[in-house]
Amino acid sequence: MRIFIDKAKDFARWTLVRDCDPELALAQCKELNFQIPLLYVLLMLNAIAVSFTHRDVAPTFLTIGILVPILLLTIFRLLVWVRSRHDQLTPDQAINKLRRTVIMASVISVIYITWSLSLDSYGGPTERGHVALFIAITVIGCIFCLMHLPQAAIMVMLIVTVPYLVHYLGQNEDVYTAIALNIFLVCLVILKVLFNGYFAFSDLIKSRSELSAKQRETELLNAENERLSQTDYLTDLPNRRHFFKRLDQHIKEAASSDSVFAVGVIDLDQFKPVNDTYGHQIGDQLLTAVGARLEELSLPGLEISRLGGDEFGLLFPGGPDTAPLAARTVCDGLQQPFQIGDLSISIGASCGLAFYPEAGETAHALFDRSDYALYNSKASSRGSLTIYSADHEAKMRSTKAIESALQSANIREEFEVHFQPIVALPDQKVVGFEALARWTSPKLGSIPPDVFIQVAERTGQIQRLTIQFFTMAIEQINNLPDHIKLGFNLSAHDITSPETVARLLDIIKTNKINPKRVTFELTETSVIGNYDAAVSCLHALRNAGCRLALDDFGTGYSSLSYLHRLPIDCVKVDRSFVANLSDPVANGVITSVVNLCQSMQLVCVVEGVEQESQAEALKDMNCQLVQGFLFSRPRPFSEIETSIGNSGTVAGLPLTSEIPEDLLRRSAM
Ligand code: C2E
Ligand code: CA
Ligand code: CA
Repeated sequence: MRIFIDKAKDFARWTLVRDCDPELALAQCKELNFQIPLLYVLLMLNAIAVSFTHRDVAPTFLTIGILVPILLLTIFRLLVWVRSRHDQLTPDQAINKLRRTVIMASVISVIYITWSLSLDSYGGPTERGHVALFIAITVIGCIFCLMHLPQAAIMVMLIVTVPYLVHYLGQNEDVYTAIALNIFLVCLVILKVLFNGYFAFSDLIKSRSELSAKQRETELLNAENERLSQTDYLTDLPNRRHFFKRLDQHIKEAASSDSVFAVGVIDLDQFKPVNDTYGHQIGDQLLTAVGARLEELSLPGLEISRLGGDEFGLLFPGGPDTAPLAARTVCDGLQQPFQIGDLSISIGASCGLAFYPEAGETAHALFDRSDYALYNSKASSRGSLTIYSADHEAKMRSTKAIESALQSANIREEFEVHFQPIVALPDQKVVGFEALARWTSPKLGSIPPDVFIQVAERTGQIQRLTIQFFTMAIEQINNLPDHIKLGFNLSAHDITSPETVARLLDIIKTNKINPKRVTFELTETSVIGNYDAAVSCLHALRNAGCRLALDDFGTGYSSLSYLHRLPIDCVKVDRSFVANLSDPVANGVITSVVNLCQSMQLVCVVEGVEQESQAEALKDMNCQLVQGFLFSRPRPFSEIETSIGNSGTVAGLPLTSEIPEDLLRRSAM
C-alpha cells in the first residue's frame, strides 16, 4: 500500500512537472509553441464538424449554446500561445508554463469529452459513429501534438479514453465497445511510441546542453590561455606580445578615425646596478613592485605593458598636449623609493615618446622611434622624457645610413688606426700611444669614432671591428721600441665576450708582443651592463699580463666603488675636467683623483690637455701622465714612424728611453 502511495506521489510530482531539467523545459516550450496552436485548430475544426452533423438531431443549446463558449475558451488559449510564441523565457518561467499546460490540457479535455459524449445520445448510427470517430481521431491528434510534454499527453489520453471506454461499455453495444477498446489500445501504443520519441528528444537536449557546457568550458579555458599568453609572469602586466597587438589595434583605429595616439618606451634607471648589487631575486621583487605601482596608476586610456627586462611599453590615446603629462606621471611615480623587505631602493625611469602618425604609421616605425627617443633620454639625463621630433628623424636617418654603410664596409680599406701620444710629466717624454680608430666611408665621408662605435655596438658588429683594429694597432706598434706602450679602447660588448678576449690575447701572442705593453681601456658604463661577465673577462686579460685602465673617469655615477671593485691599474681622467681647470670644483676633482691614485698605487692619466697653462697646472699637481692636442693630435702611424725615423721624436717630444719604475708604480702605462 505504502509503495502504491509513494508511486502515486511520484507520478503526481512528475505530472505536475516538479523536477525538470531547465534546458529541457526551455526546449519543450519551444516545440510546444508550434504544436499547441495546431492542436487547438484541430480541436475546433473537429468540434465544429460534429456540431454541424448534429444540428438537426441534437438540441441547439448543445450544438451551439455550449459549443460557442467552448470555442471562445479555445480561441483565447490559442491566442495566448501564439502571442507568447517569441517570448524569451527563463528556465523557471518555462517550467511554470509546462505545468500550466498540463493543467489546461486536462481541463479542456474534461470539457470536450463531456460535451462530445453528451451528443452521443442524439441522432442515428451515422451521427453516433461520427461522435465516436471525432473523439478517437481528435484524442490521437492531440496526443501527437503533445508529444513533447508527455505529462499532458497522458492526462489527455486518460481523461478522454477512460470515460469513452466506460461510456460505450455501459451501452452494451458490441460495435461501440469494440471501437472504444480499440481506441484505448491504440492510444496506449501511441503513447509508448511517443514516450520513446520523447526520451530520444530529452537525451538529445541533454547531450546538446552537455556539449554547450563543454564548449563554454573550452571557451573559458581558451580565454584564460589567451590572457596568460599575453601576461607577463613576473609583474602581471600585459606582456610584449599584448603590447604589439594593442599597438596594431591603435593604428587601425587611429587610421580610420584620423586621430593621434602616443607610443612610449620606458626604461628603469639604475635597475642593473640594483640587480648586480643585491642579486636577481631582489631584482625580480623590485620589478614586481614596479608592476604593482604601474597598475595603481589609473590614468584613463593609459596602457602599460612589460616589454622585457626593465623595459616597459606605454600606449596613450592622446596627442602632444596630453600624452607627455601621462608619461611624466608614470616616470614620477617610479621615482618614489621602493620598499623591498628591509631595503629601500630608489630607481627612476626614463621615457621616449613618439606620436602616430607624425613619427610613423607602422608598429615597427613607431616603436623604433620611441626607442630612439628613449635612447636620447638616457644619453642626456636620467629620469627624463624625450619626445621624438623632426631633428631626431634627421639623426635617425643618418644613423640608418651609417648602419648600412658599416654593414658593407671593407674594414682594411676604409678604416685606419691613429695614435695619440701619452706623455710623462714633468720632462714630457712619450711613454706610449692610445690607438683611436678612424673611418672614411666612400659613401658618407669621415665618421667620428664615437658615432660609428655606437652603431657597431647596436648592430652587433663591434667585435669584428675590435679584432681588426687591434690587429692593425699591434702590427704597427710592434715596430716601436719594446717599452713603448699601447692603449686600446674596448667596448661593453668586447669586455663581456670571452671569445673576443681570447681573440685579443691570441693576437698579442701571434705578434710576440709582451702583454704588459698593452693597456685595455674601458668605461664604467661598459661594465655596469653585465657586471659578472665583464669582471670575469677583465680578470682573464689581467691574468694574461695585460693592463686595464678605467677611461673617462669622473663622468660615471659610482666611480669610486668601481676603483675598488675592478682589477684596474690605471685611471684616465675625463677631458671635461681639464677643460674647466679654472673651476675650483674641476680642479679639486683632478687633485683628489691624482692623490687617490697615488695612495691606491694606480697610474693616473689626465686627458684633453690643450694648453700650456693646463700642462703647467697638472705638473704642479704632481700629475704623472697626460694626453692631449697640446702635445699631439691622434696621427696615422706612418707619420709617427717617419717623425721618429727623422728626429727620434714624435711631434717634437722625445720617446722615453726607459720607464722609471716609480712613475709607473705597478708597471702599467
Ligand atoms: P676616448 O677613449 O676618450 O678617446 C679620447 C678622445 O679624445 C679621442 O677622440 C681623442 O681624439 C680626443 N682627444 C684627445 N686629446 C684631446 C684634446 O686635447 N682635446 C679634445 N677636445 N679632444 C681630445 P676620438 O678619437 O674622436 O674618439 C672618441 C671616442 O671613440 C674615444 O674616446 C673612444 O671612446 C671611442 N673610440 C675610438 N677608437 C675606438 C676603438 O678602436 N674602439 C672603441 N671601442 N672605441 C673607440
Ligand atoms: Ca680611451
Ligand atoms: Ca677618455
